[in-house]
Amino acid sequence: MIKLLLVEDNEINLDMIQRRLRKKFDIIVARTGLEAVEKAKSDSPQIILMDVGLPDIDGLEATRRIKADPATAKIPVIALTAQAMAGDRENTLAAGCDEYEPKPIEDLPRLLGKIEALVARSGPHDVDPTAG
Ligand code: MN
Repeated sequence: MIKLLLVEDNEINLDMIQRRLRKKFDIIVARTGLEAVEKAKSDSPQIILMDVGLPDIDGLEATRRIKADPATAKIPVIALTAQAMAGDRENTLAAGCDEYEPKPIEDLPRLLGKIEALVARSGPHDVDPTAG
């Protein structure tokens, strides 16, 4: 199962996204930007879904830090933003996000397609031999 780091501070959104993804992914949760940076390193997820509005550092800054660290730079990041504001896509991509998806997730197959493509593209991983 693909290990996915879900970064989201809103409990309702978190619950909603988890319900939709939990059958397909091994989900790790982070509720702040700093926690996201930390778990990207400690848990070696294969993909990160990154909320942008977070209580400490925002998702863009968290992504910059993840991409600046050689240990986590190759983990693909998909930004999730609540409002499709003009410039959102450009801002997230400029911060180093690999993809962008508006929230709430209305097109789950499209998001799953993006996840699969990015995970495949990021190549072989150090697989945890104890993982099922
Ligand atoms: Mn948020």
